[in-house]
Amino acid sequence: MDRIGFIGLGNMGRPMASNLVRKGFPLAVFDVNPAPVRQLEQSGARAVVDCRAVARDSDIVITMLPNSASVEEVLLGSGGVLAHLRAGCGIMDMSTIDPMLTDRVAAAAAGQGIAFVDAPVGRLASHAERGESLFMVGATGEAFARVRPLLEAMGTTIHHCGGAGTGIRTKLVNNYLAIVSCAFNAEALALSQQFGLSLEKTLDVVHGTTATNGQLKIAWAAKVLKGDTAPGFTIDLAHKDLTLIVDAANAVKVPMPIGAAARESFSAARIQGQGTKDFSAMVDVLCDFAHIARPRLP
Ligand code: NAD
Repeated sequence: MDRIGFIGLGNMGRPMASNLVRKGFPLAVFDVNPAPVRQLEQSGARAVVDCRAVARDSDIVITMLPNSASVEEVLLGSGGVLAHLRAGCGIMDMSTIDPMLTDRVAAAAAGQGIAFVDAPVGRLASHAERGESLFMVGATGEAFARVRPLLEAMGTTIHHCGGAGTGIRTKLVNNYLAIVSCAFNAEALALSQQFGLSLEKTLDVVHGTTATNGQLKIAWAAKVLKGDTAPGFTIDLAHKDLTLIVDAANAVKVPMPIGAAARESFSAARIQGQGTKDFSAMVDVLCDFAHIARPRLP
């Protein structure tokens, strides 16, 4: 059995790694934050001191990091994974990052005889806890077959999108729809409230028409509309993703006027100090700005 290393144990990485341990994979873990490392150690993972130690003790290294800069440091840096991993091993990056960086890491790995897989994650942190994530995988057929048992241990839905780099690009298309919908959901609920309509009745109606969307129906119903704005997926990460999306689209000459405007709503929320809240809290930010009550279900 491949020995697995896991770097990045945040809102997503910690539950994903615990599912691997629970399902019997030998796991070495590292995060710059010691708290989740200790938690995983208690569940049976082996804590190691840095990325180099992860690389030396693993056959496949998984990364679940916040952004492009951290992935670049962890995978391509001088104390990083590629500098210490052996030929024949594999890397699976599951973070949401700039696809051009994914291409660079894939090329660097190939140059060292290391298989590279990009497998960003769909759905919410609550799905990751239950081992019900969705994965968008970019990999050769051989590399996909090798990581498949790991993905099956962490999720329920696996899409092989094509070669390396197609997983992350699929993820950006997915997150464009998922994150922009938060900006217009916030406006729709503020409008409903100022019209004096019942929140429950408005939701009943839009959930039953073509206006329905998963953020409002599934994510918001469980989070902000119940008064729970702990992340989940933060406003900071949503802002990062919309920036990646607009930049990556512009690089291939696709204009994103709505994406750019939505990104600036997230910029405004961050400036108001709301960046660490769940991204469903965009509705609270807008309602505070409009001096109207935050919408809540009973
Ligand atoms: P997070 O900020 O909760 O976790 C990131 C973890 O990486 C933290 O524990 C942090 O300490 C660690 N880290 C940062 N730099 C490091 C370094 N140099 N070395 C080792 N550890 C380091 O973020 P998250 O919500 O878990 O998201 C991780 C990735 O998954 C992001 O790219 C995000 O866009 C994506 N994603 C998140 C969700 C979600 O619902 N939260 C869903 C799908 C995808």
